[in-house]
Amino acid sequence: MIEEIINRNAIDELAAVIDSKTQFVILSHKNPDGDALGSSLALCLYLRARGKKATVVLPNRFPDFLSWLPAAGDVLLYEKEQEKVAEVMAAAEAFFCLDFNTLSRIGELGDYVKLSSAPKVLVDHHLQPSDEFRILVSHPEACSTSELVYRVIVAISGDELLSNEMAQCIYTGMMTDTGSFAYASARKDIYLIIAALLSTGIDKDLIYRKVFYNSSFSRMKLFGYVMYKKLKHYNKYNAALITLSYEELQRFYAQKGDTEGLVNQPLQIKGVRFSCFLREEQPGKINVSLRSVDDFPCNSVAEEFFNGGGHKNASGGELHCSMESAVELFKSALQKYKDNLLG
Ligand code: 5GP
Ligand code: MN
Repeated sequence: MIEEIINRNAIDELAAVIDSKTQFVILSHKNPDGDALGSSLALCLYLRARGKKATVVLPNRFPDFLSWLPAAGDVLLYEKEQEKVAEVMAAAEAFFCLDFNTLSRIGELGDYVKLSSAPKVLVDHHLQPSDEFRILVSHPEACSTSELVYRVIVAISGDELLSNEMAQCIYTGMMTDTGSFAYASARKDIYLIIAALLSTGIDKDLIYRKVFYNSSFSRMKLFGYVMYKKLKHYNKYNAALITLSYEELQRFYAQKGDTEGLVNQPLQIKGVRFSCFLREEQPGKINVSLRSVDDFPCNSVAEEFFNGGGHKNASGGELHCSMESAVELFKSALQKYKDNLLG
């Protein structure tokens, strides 16, 4: 039996919102990953199966390796279709906010949500949800938001409405947010849920290949270049750093999503507990990705040094400075967290 983690009141309130409305907008965070898109599409398909009108709206593009997901072609991107997005946002009778904990994570889309009087439902597994939502389904113990969407669907409708297509989306989110069940995935419920997803007939090995065996040649070359030339091992700190400048990303024809997974690689080095990847996505604008193992809190580092946050073992942030200054910040973080890194 799967243990119920979502409070029954929250489920009842959420079910009442679905029952009483017909038009929904589902939102997720910028630079959407497998869980952001997977959880959003699963919920969208569920609402449509209930005869509702549902649209997934994202701030910007998702990586190509997710474009095969069912209904991914229906997603509206704010960066591309602002007018159309403004229309569906205005028509929305309720908003579902998935896989983020504060409206600032969705950029300008957050302003539309704030201005609307429609109910706002949060379904998320990050720490510290903001108080901007009417209904909270916030469970940091869940491996992914997709796990929570599974739980919501089954709590409201049982297994009957859970389709193969919804299961593909949910499995993708669970798989990508746990590094293919390598971390944040020790709870036995996760495997009971996977068993239920498999019962819909999904091919989990095919999903794995679609997501991970989908690299371009230039991405492989970029990874090779990084491993050979750009990976720095701070062995006195059990830490590693990768930097990629805007110029280098251009030189390797890096597409959206091409650097996905790169930050995890240094954790394979014996003893490394903390990995940082600084990616200059625009000249002077640096995206920060942090990963750790065990109890090293990279979210504290992200908050303190990189204007960000996230989970204990996977966090991120953003800097507006030169790469040199960003590297200096990283080194200060190592100094500050030295005891913790060696502990
Ligand atoms: P990634 O390295 O994959 O971009 O991000 C890893 C995780 O860090 C995300 O799932 C999210 O939880 C968190 N994260 C990334 N960027 C930010 C940020 O700017 N602010 C906050 N609060 N969390 C972030
Ligand atoms: Mn997630």
